[in-house]
Amino acid sequence: MKRIVIIGGGMGGTLIANLLARQLKPREAHITVISASARHMYQPGWLYVALGRQDPRALSRSERGLLSKKVALHIGAVSKLDLEGQQVELEGGESLPYDYLVIATGSRMVLEDLPGFAGGAQHFYTEEAAFRLHAQLEEFNGGRIVIGVGGLPYKCPVAPLEFTFLLDEYLAHRGLRGRSEIVYTFPLGRVFTIESVAEFAQPLLEQRGIKIETFFNAEEILPDQKLVRSMEGTELNYELLIMTPPHRGAKFLEGLAIADAQGWVKTDRATLQVADHPNIWAVGDATDLPISKAGSTAHFEAPVIVAHIVAALRGSAPDPRHAEYGGHVMCFLETGYGKASLLDFDYQHSPQVAQPNAITHYQKMVFNKAYWYIVPTGVF
Ligand SMILES: Cc1cc2nc3c(=O)[nH]c(=O)nc-3n(C[C@H](O)[C@H](O)[C@H](O)COP(=O)(O)OP(=O)(O)OC[C@H]3O[C@@H](n4cnc5c(N)ncnc54)[C@H](O)[C@@H]3O)c2cc1C
Repeated sequence: MKRIVIIGGGMGGTLIANLLARQLKPREAHITVISASARHMYQPGWLYVALGRQDPRALSRSERGLLSKKVALHIGAVSKLDLEGQQVELEGGESLPYDYLVIATGSRMVLEDLPGFAGGAQHFYTEEAAFRLHAQLEEFNGGRIVIGVGGLPYKCPVAPLEFTFLLDEYLAHRGLRGRSEIVYTFPLGRVFTIESVAEFAQPLLEQRGIKIETFFNAEEILPDQKLVRSMEGTELNYELLIMTPPHRGAKFLEGLAIADAQGWVKTDRATLQVADHPNIWAVGDATDLPISKAGSTAHFEAPVIVAHIVAALRGSAPDPRHAEYGGHVMCFLETGYGKASLLDFDYQHSPQVAQPNAITHYQKMVFNKAYWYIVPTGVF
């Protein structure tokens, strides 16, 4: 019997395991998920935790409870991938062999990549950090808040924009907006990577009285001076600094021929196969694809990987409906005051951004609750 090993029990890994369990007969393959954590986190909710709008207890569930009973779950962190020997090694010393492998390890926050980050910046990219940021915001009593990006790429590219809009609302609600300045920085020459989104967001930022600082690639944070300096030579003083942390792929991938210097896996943009390894696929944040690192990306990629694994096992062609990933990504963009817009795009089409509206905001609120029932299970 063939052994399918999936490293990572997050959005992409869980969905792939459940879809495989549904399509394959038990005698066709043994499916194992290896995950560093027994908890499955719904990360988009951390944005709201930071603003005191979300109970974090609703944002995590047992991974075992989300997986089909036909899938074995092994809790442990992979420390080495032996490509020659076709096995993964865990921190405890145990090894698991595979015939087919899926790398679904997401992205890793590496604060040390930006000097001064740990002591000077707040963020909402882990549950604990979102808590800390909320405490800082509750103590905030006016002054300058600088928002920025600690390095490219980072997951959920619209999150800093969303946070900026929601922060404007939060400060207004607390009566602090008049004595606060919000500065939104971005590494490129516009406020977002995708041009149509930047054209939509810039006037909205300006209407809200948010200052914009483009070409701001953070180089160093000096916590004692409450100052952040960019590679371009701009210096900004702050009362509170909120930045996305620098991201990398999983540590065990760094230094392998299948990954680039940051640990992102070299992945075929259509088949999602890993370079030179027809029995390995990568999903979600872990890939080096030049598209958004987002849950929806992993969601739309998963059926393609499943179709290829099933085809490889059965010696047939992949299901033509899922033979290739077309770059589909769908992201909500919260704009504050109970409104949101939706970005829907792929490799061929850039997003046409709809005017923010209440219905889209409510759709996101419903999605945040419905996630557990429809996404990892493969219902939607
Ligand atoms: C604040 C915030 C807001 C966001 N908002 C949105 C949004 O609105 N829409 C959207 O689509 N996306 C959003 N995202 C992004 C989304 O959460 C991620 O892109 C998505 O979770 C990626 O799925 P993944 O399966 O690739 O990785 P993950 O879901 O991160 O899962 C990775 C898994 O791998 C495991 N793992 C890692 N290393 C190892 C190892 N060495 N050994 C074993 N297991 C390992 C982890 O424990 C984890 O289970 C947001 C993210 C954040 C932080």
